[in-house]
Amino acid sequence: MRIQALTDKLREERTLSDAEFEELFAILSQGASGPCADQVRICNDIPQAVCSPEEAVLYGAARQVREEYYGKDVYLRGLIEFTNYCRNDCRYCGIRRSNRNAERYRLSKEQILDCCAQGYALGFRTFVLQGGEDLSYTDEKICDIVSSIRSLYPDCAITLSIGEKTRESYKAYKDAGADRYLLRQETSSPAHYRYLHPEELTIENRKRCLADLKDLGYQVGCGIMVGSPEQTLSNVIEDLRYMRDFGPHMVGVGPFIPHRDTPFRDEKPGTLKDTLHLLAVIRLMLPGVLLPATTALGTIHPVGRELGLLAGANVIMPNLSPVNVRGKYLLYDGKICTGDEAASCRSCMDRRIERAGYRTALVRGDCAGFAAE
Ligand code: SF4
Repeated sequence: MRIQALTDKLREERTLSDAEFEELFAILSQGASGPCADQVRICNDIPQAVCSPEEAVLYGAARQVREEYYGKDVYLRGLIEFTNYCRNDCRYCGIRRSNRNAERYRLSKEQILDCCAQGYALGFRTFVLQGGEDLSYTDEKICDIVSSIRSLYPDCAITLSIGEKTRESYKAYKDAGADRYLLRQETSSPAHYRYLHPEELTIENRKRCLADLKDLGYQVGCGIMVGSPEQTLSNVIEDLRYMRDFGPHMVGVGPFIPHRDTPFRDEKPGTLKDTLHLLAVIRLMLPGVLLPATTALGTIHPVGRELGLLAGANVIMPNLSPVNVRGKYLLYDGKICTGDEAASCRSCMDRRIERAGYRTALVRGDCAGFAAE
């Protein structure tokens, strides 16, 4: 079976030639749309967890590899979306600065610390502070928030996801106690990047930020949108090559979902299948990477996150933001989990993880093999 040979090669050599990647994705997409009679069940407790025999080979290998590194553990990250103000105008994003319909909010330091306290009591040992590029949170304020969390919760990891900054700013956050940083490049191709972003943002600066973060000792997450407007297979292969060369500790991969107040409102969303294929390929290519089954995946399919775990993902990021602001942090339409209290999110997530055959691990959940300096 050709899929077996390609999967084995990817697992052993951690890369394929462009022609082999093209062949792999062609086989997977043909299998994914093939006759139902061929379908293989990959999880007894989830009726929707069926796929083509070709996909079953790839997903099976991805699960084996994730289990070699992480066993059955799934790490939880408590996501605190602390501001939806942003100075940027990315064409796909619901909180872009030119969206006059977005109801803006900011959380105070006290509100952020309340979210952490609630999360800590629920067992979270990583807090992710995420926001638009909101200049009202100066470096001084960010450092104050980070160092307060660091001193209150020395056993927790602190992740920042607040966009492009100078090396000096990244260093200041690191010195204040931040451990990890998420900055998806969204696409590695300069032309495609130009299409998705406003003039003032460049892929060169995005990559400079990622390189600085890694150099400063952060665990760094990059990532892409699957099925974004004008994305081609060669863009995706270029993304895979960038990730392989860069060596991230985390990779965020979720489907593009249009937002009604953006120029991409009428574009088609990315698909579940394409996202799952890519998750599995990334697991084989970067075996120890932290790989979230994203909320966007759960938004396009009722058990999307469970299917993500079955394709090699090992992280879930439940929302710890106050319920009254969750519905305002809408990067895309239809986002799930905007109404549930953190406690019910946590137990919902435990059930979902268990049904997929895994278990929630209430630990920091660092990248396998990462040794902080
Ligand atoms: S994607 Fe990020 S940087 Fe771009 S507009 Fe949205 S929040 Fe701002």
